[in-house]
Amino acid sequence: MILFIHRKDLRIQDMPAFEYITQREVPSLHTFIVDPAIIGQGRHVEHSGIQFLRTLSKLVELYKHDGLTLHLLYGDPIEITHDLVQRYPVQEIVVHEDYTPYSRERDGKLERVAAQRNISFTSLPDQPLIDWEDFHRFAERTDAYKVFTPFYRKWKAYMDLFFQPPVFTDVNELQTVALDSEVLDKYSLPFLIPNSSIDEPSVRLQDFIEDDLDSYERYRDYYSEEGTSHLSSALNTGAISSREVYAAVLHLPQAESWRRQLAWRDFYLYQSHQDPVFYSYENRFDLSALNDFHFEAWSQGNTGIPVIDAAMRQLNQTGYLPNRLRMITAMFLTKNLLCPFSLGEAYFRIKLADYDHALNRGGWLWCSSLGYDASPYFRIMNPVTQSQKFDPHGRYLRDWLPELAHLEGKALHQPHPQAIVDLKGSRLQAIEVYRGILQTSKSQPLTDNSFPRHHQVK
Ligand SMILES: Cc1cc2nc3c(=O)[nH]c(=O)nc-3n(C[C@H](O)[C@H](O)[C@H](O)COP(=O)(O)OP(=O)(O)OC[C@H]3O[C@@H](n4cnc5c(N)ncnc54)[C@H](O)[C@@H]3O)c2cc1C
Repeated sequence: MILFIHRKDLRIQDMPAFEYITQREVPSLHTFIVDPAIIGQGRHVEHSGIQFLRTLSKLVELYKHDGLTLHLLYGDPIEITHDLVQRYPVQEIVVHEDYTPYSRERDGKLERVAAQRNISFTSLPDQPLIDWEDFHRFAERTDAYKVFTPFYRKWKAYMDLFFQPPVFTDVNELQTVALDSEVLDKYSLPFLIPNSSIDEPSVRLQDFIEDDLDSYERYRDYYSEEGTSHLSSALNTGAISSREVYAAVLHLPQAESWRRQLAWRDFYLYQSHQDPVFYSYENRFDLSALNDFHFEAWSQGNTGIPVIDAAMRQLNQTGYLPNRLRMITAMFLTKNLLCPFSLGEAYFRIKLADYDHALNRGGWLWCSSLGYDASPYFRIMNPVTQSQKFDPHGRYLRDWLPELAHLEGKALHQPHPQAIVDLKGSRLQAIEVYRGILQTSKSQPLTDNSFPRHHQVK
C-alpha cells in the first residue's frame, strides 16, 4: 500500500503523484494532515487559514464525488505518519515536494521514519513550472540566476521547448483505502472545517482569459479596475496547477505580460531553493536600527496616509490585496516606518488568503532591499504619488475610506495633518538607515538579539 499525503496540492486533476500511484497499481491511503504548527495559534479563523481549510473541504467533496476516500487527520505529521506505517502495510510514502525550511525539515524526518521501516519515500516536483536542475543544464549554468530579467529570458526559451503539459490521470484507477475509526478518532480535528464555497478555479481562469487578459498589461497596476486573475490562492493551495494555468494561455500572444507574472512566481520558488540565505536574510544583516513603533498603526490602517489605510482595510477585511498595494504598503512599513520586514511578512502570513511562504518572503525582501533582485535602497515609493497615479479618480480610496469620499482631486490622496510620519523626512532617513544596514552584510549568521526572532514564519 502507498501512503499519499496531500500538501499544497488540493486538487485531483493534474496530479503527478496520482499518475505515479496508478502506475504502481497498488491501493493507496490518502490523507491530509492538518498540522497545528502551520494552521494553529488561531490561524484557522484568519483569512489565510480559512481559505486553505475551505479548499480542503472542497477537496474532500471532490474525492467523494469520484467514490474515493480522503482522510483529514489533525496532529504532528511525523507522529501520525509513524503511527500509520506501524498499523498499515505501507510500502511507500509519496508526497509532492515542498521547499520551505519547515517542510524540508519535516520531510527529512519523514524520510527517516520511512527508512527505519524499510519503506521508500518518494517526493515528486509539482509547484514550479520548470525543473530547476534541468533548467540549469539547459542554461549551461552551475550558479543560480540572481536577476529576474535574464532568468526570464532563459525561462521563456526553456518553456517553449520543454513545458510539461498537465498530466491526465483517470482517478477511477486509484484504489483508495479507508482508515479504521479508532485512528480517525485519535486524530480528529478540534475545530469545524468551513464550508467548501470557493470559486471553481478553472472557471475563474476562463473568465479572466475572456474578460481581462487583453487589457491585463495596461490595467494590472490600476487596482480599482480589478483586472487581474485572482488565481493566486488557488495556485498556492494547489486547487489548480500552474501547468493547467500556463497551458490555458500558452498560445495566446496577448498573454505575454501575464505569463511573465507566472515566471515571477517561479523565480521566487527557484530562489527559495537556490539562495542558501533566502529564509535567513534577517540573520545576515544587522537590523537593530529598525523598530516596531508604528507597526500597530500600519496593520490597523491608522497611519493617516489614505492609500495605506485603505489597503490595510481591504487586506484585513477580505484577505486580498492587489500586487501594487502590497508593494506600496510593504515599502512604507519597511522604509518610511523603519519596521523590520519580518513583522509585515508575519502579518501578511496571517491575513493573506493567498499566503505562500516563498512568494510572500520574496515580495517583502524586494521591498526591503534585501534578497537577490531587490529594489535599490534609495528608490522609495511615495505612497501619495503612487495613489494619484494608479487610482487617478480616487475610486479605490472612496470605496475603502468612505469618510474621505467628500474630498476631490489631489486632496483625497494627501496625508492627514495628523499622519504618523512625514513622508519626505522619513524617506531621507530610510535611505541613510538602509545604506547602513546593507553595509553590515555578514558571511556568518548573526547570533545576537538584533532581530525579533519570534516573528520568523513557517
Ligand atoms: C510584499 C508582497 C507580498 C506578497 N505575498 C504573496 C503571497 O503570499 N502569495 C502570493 O501568491 N503572492 C504574493 N505576492 C505577489 C503578488 O502580489 C500576488 O501574487 C498577486 O497580487 C496575486 O493576484 P492575482 O492572482 O490576481 O495575480 P495576477 O496578476 O493575475 O498574476 C497571476 C499569478 O502570477 C503570480 N504573480 C503575480 N505577481 C507576482 C509577483 N509579484 N511575485 C510572484 N508571483 C506573482 C501569482 O501566482 C498570480 O496569481 C506578494 C507581493 C508582495 C509585494
